[in-house]
Amino acid sequence: MQFDDDAELDTSQVQDRRGIPGGGLTIGGGAIGILGLIAALLFGVDPGLFGAADTAAAPPVGQATSSAQLASACKTGKDANQRQDCRVLAVVNSVQTYWEGDFKARGRQYSPAATVLFTDRVATACGTATSAVGPFYCPGDRKAYFDLGFFNDMTRQLGAKGGPFAEAYVVAHEYGHHVQNLLGTMGKVGSDRQGADSASVKLELQADCYAGVWTHHATTTPQPSTGRPLITSLTDQDIALALDAAESVGDDRIQQRATGRSNPETWTHGSSAQRTQWFTTGYRTGDMTKCNTFG
Ligand SMILES: [Zn+2]
Repeated sequence: MQFDDDAELDTSQVQDRRGIPGGGLTIGGGAIGILGLIAALLFGVDPGLFGAADTAAAPPVGQATSSAQLASACKTGKDANQRQDCRVLAVVNSVQTYWEGDFKARGRQYSPAATVLFTDRVATACGTATSAVGPFYCPGDRKAYFDLGFFNDMTRQLGAKGGPFAEAYVVAHEYGHHVQNLLGTMGKVGSDRQGADSASVKLELQADCYAGVWTHHATTTPQPSTGRPLITSLTDQDIALALDAAESVGDDRIQQRATGRSNPETWTHGSSAQRTQWFTTGYRTGDMTKCNTFG
């Protein structure tokens, strides 16, 4: 994956709360949004991972500074070609530019969602989350949350090969949830949150399919600021690494690695085969209406 060196990045789409204790926000109450739980990318999220008593988080000291630092470090596509955090920002830009156009073509309006970078734990409208839940999207505040350390876990603990486009797949998956939130699809899940045929699995597979749809268009979607695509090239190897990442986060694969066996009744995200299949469907067709995982 290569970015246009001269492209200007839109740093307003990423908030940097790395190194801020508690993620820099105080959220009242301990209520955990159910939709927040189902939207975590990888794991059947244990509610214990979202602190029930998310009180007394530190005030957002340094938040502005930190985001300002990111903004000064990540100015152009050239920065995205050199730094991981700038790359994530650039992918967020590309993904949102794509969906804005897709929504427009369907007579709808896309509302951008911010990405929050954090370390260790973060306070959200869905409760306080630790890095252990993996990247997630919180419908309550319409933000995607990433601890970039997850990308190391993906290779070390989940056995993925990793690489920039594996990371891009994860980012695009979370924005797939944002698209679902805007379209009202998340409401279909209700309490049907576990099992190979559950609505939760269908929601997750659709987010994988949406990631594939963006991938299909990634090198042909012009950025408004330049009129040129922000991503100038994707190789077969990039696509292979995205598929490898999708495979590595399949429920059956994760359960096999953890316990030596897989129990479809507890699946929340779909099997490796399903996840790669739906990413591929989105990638081959480039058409979100083909992402009909709900049948
Ligand atoms: Zn997800």
